[in-house]
Amino acid sequence: MKILITGGAGFIGSHLAEAYLEQGDDVYIIDDLSTGSLENIRHLQEDERFRNQLFVHINTILHHDIMLELTGICDVVMHLAAAVGVQYILDYPLKSIRTNIQGTEKVLELCDKFKKKVIIASTSEVYGKHLHAPLMETDNVIYGPSSKFRWSYAASKLMDEFTALAYYRTHGLKVVIARLFNTVGPRQTGAYGMVIPRFVSQALRNEPLTVYGDGKQTRTFTYVKDVVHALIELAEADNAVGEVFNIGGTEEISMLDLADKIIKATASTSKIEIIPYEKAFGKDFEDMLRRVPGIEKINQCIGFDPKTDLDEILKQVIAFMK
Ligand code: UDP
Repeated sequence: MKILITGGAGFIGSHLAEAYLEQGDDVYIIDDLSTGSLENIRHLQEDERFRNQLFVHINTILHHDIMLELTGICDVVMHLAAAVGVQYILDYPLKSIRTNIQGTEKVLELCDKFKKKVIIASTSEVYGKHLHAPLMETDNVIYGPSSKFRWSYAASKLMDEFTALAYYRTHGLKVVIARLFNTVGPRQTGAYGMVIPRFVSQALRNEPLTVYGDGKQTRTFTYVKDVVHALIELAEADNAVGEVFNIGGTEEISMLDLADKIIKATASTSKIEIIPYEKAFGKDFEDMLRRVPGIEKINQCIGFDPKTDLDEILKQVIAFMK
């Protein structure tokens, strides 16, 4: 099979590319390197086994002619290209909205033209600020006001979901939507705010771990290889078409406990530094205080059962960052 991965030089995209290459598929990557990096795929480009299997285009998904050619060539499109990371969204609000809305619209338009199946990577951000758990695919969404730019990310990804589902309903386009919950693992950078690479690198340097807010906010983390496995299976499952799925882990942990765990796991002398949200992100910031996925739906569809627990995830990330 020929797979087009938009955002294929990103953290998740590069792991997805690797998995497809390993199973013998041809992989076409398009990435503008805004948050992705050639470093993420260098080992794949240098691997002799993949010499005739991997094709990399450094360009934006908004480039019509290139996307026309690539979508025409490939059998399935894995659409991962998006503005990601809370810090990135706050730093580049306009660019983020454009990438997420216009970029996805372009991908869907071309998939529709060639009738190619498309998997849309969405995010747990779309749920907004719920306090209950677990979050189910049928839950309402709750956002703050438009003055708080964090919610532009949630709203733009929700619009992507609506657009994809509208193509499915009106044109019968085969779409699958995957809401990813805090995917982590080797090659993720802390540059755009992601907590685990930030805490691990701080701990390894024996610097204070910067816990934002009161540190009681919780997350569940999913290992990138579990996510990649789920994405590949969803792309193959006929009964996934036209549906939205959570992909996430089930081990809920507060950021304070996470910081403690990382200090212990790295045998670091670091202390914890509590930093108010306002100091970290400016005054118009709101966090999600709790985020735990319900995974019954994806479990029933493809038997998804995330295998890698948080201790193992941290072991992998620490080994990589060392
Ligand atoms: N966070 C933190 N310190 C950091 C970076 C992040 O305490 O140096 C917190 C952040 O405020 C959030 C959680 O860790 O409550 C997860 O943040 P991340 O950016 O990884 O993902 P999010 O779930 O916010 O998209």
